[in-house]
Amino acid sequence: MLKVLKFGGSSLASSEQFAKVKDIVKAEKEREVVIVSAPGKRDSADNKITDLLYLLHAHIRYGVSYEPVLAMITERYEEIKKGCGLTTDIGKSIKETFDKVDKKTSADFIASRGEYFCAILMAEYLGFKFVDAAEWVVFDYDGKVNNAASEEKLREFKKVYGQIVTPGFYGAYTSGDIKVFPRGGSDITGALAAAYLNADIYENWTDVSGILMVDPKIVPDSKIIARVTYDELRELSYMGASVLHEDTVFPVRLKDIPVNIRNTNEPDAPGTIIGERFEDELTEEHERFITGIAGKKNFSIINIYKSRIGEDKIKLLREVLEIFDRYEIPVEQIPSGVDSFSVVFPSESLGNRQHDLMHELGSNESIDDCQLTEGISLIAIVGRQMAYRTGISGKIFKTLGENKINIRTIEQGSDEINIMVGVYNEDFERAVKVLYDSFAR
Ligand code: ASP
Repeated sequence: MLKVLKFGGSSLASSEQFAKVKDIVKAEKEREVVIVSAPGKRDSADNKITDLLYLLHAHIRYGVSYEPVLAMITERYEEIKKGCGLTTDIGKSIKETFDKVDKKTSADFIASRGEYFCAILMAEYLGFKFVDAAEWVVFDYDGKVNNAASEEKLREFKKVYGQIVTPGFYGAYTSGDIKVFPRGGSDITGALAAAYLNADIYENWTDVSGILMVDPKIVPDSKIIARVTYDELRELSYMGASVLHEDTVFPVRLKDIPVNIRNTNEPDAPGTIIGERFEDELTEEHERFITGIAGKKNFSIINIYKSRIGEDKIKLLREVLEIFDRYEIPVEQIPSGVDSFSVVFPSESLGNRQHDLMHELGSNESIDDCQLTEGISLIAIVGRQMAYRTGISGKIFKTLGENKINIRTIEQGSDEINIMVGVYNEDFERAVKVLYDSFAR
């Protein structure tokens, strides 16, 4: 049994947080591979080390003295070293590294040092071997990870050293040049490591006790999702839920390795399990049918009407979509009626080209009338338990109706795990809240 653990920045922000991480890792002998982010914020007024490093890079580039920023960074690692009673001379390593940088040093290299120094300290603290991510995350020239080469290298390190700590967020081209993933990319490193090593589970330790059913800004005491499938997660994150993005966990999904989102500050909480499917469904989600609710504001709808459109509908639809394609407007939904159909899209993608687009559509002889409505929000009600079950959409409409919330659009995916409704922006928060109350309380 092997568990691969990734700890996020807030779990590593201070020596106090380091101590919690150690307790977690040492609690189970299967926890053998640890991926760390760079230290994050200790409180809301604090800085993330990665942000400071990007700032430092800008100072170097513009020839401005960077010593004050470097001092802030060094002090953070010194606190961790001292608080954890470590011996590594981290101050010296940091100084030596930055003595060598100049205007030509890449932002990627500088940003990656946040994870690098953090992993060095964590390795000493846990008594695990430090393995530099530049030694095993191999990028090809096209900027993509070379999975075969990376897997081979990591497996070798694991075989030789057993218990390892490795930095997240970056890797290297074969030339040795460092390349970072997008921000938050330690999640990707963790997923790659778990997949390459065929881990039994990928534990992603953060500062929330799992994925919330709904945005806590709308429902402050939202329940936590016990189990979510990758498909559900994809729907939720696509609609704006700020959860681990399904893309980042793709490597583990491919290998059917479950992901467990856990809270470093509440290690006994079971968190959320993300999996391909669940055999038994005796969880709370089963009783309430829905897994989560997510939504986004600011969509527009163009409604297109043609009397007795009949067989010409496909032709007209194609013409309209070609126009959207030319304007590079991503189409979200196409609800359709007998003599009309609508196109729903993010308002910002149209920008200030409303007149051009409406004029173009209006001059199409096959269109009798077209109207633009702005200020629409889309809300996705997601749940694998909804599939093939009656009464769920009825409950959604009843709840919104009772609360005098007008539904502008309705759509259900064919796999039936998602019902999407469009409401006016001003009703958005209230709609999410009443839906949550009716399904989850
Ligand atoms: N430290 C990087 C960031 O702040 C990567 C990560 O934390 O995953 O984006």
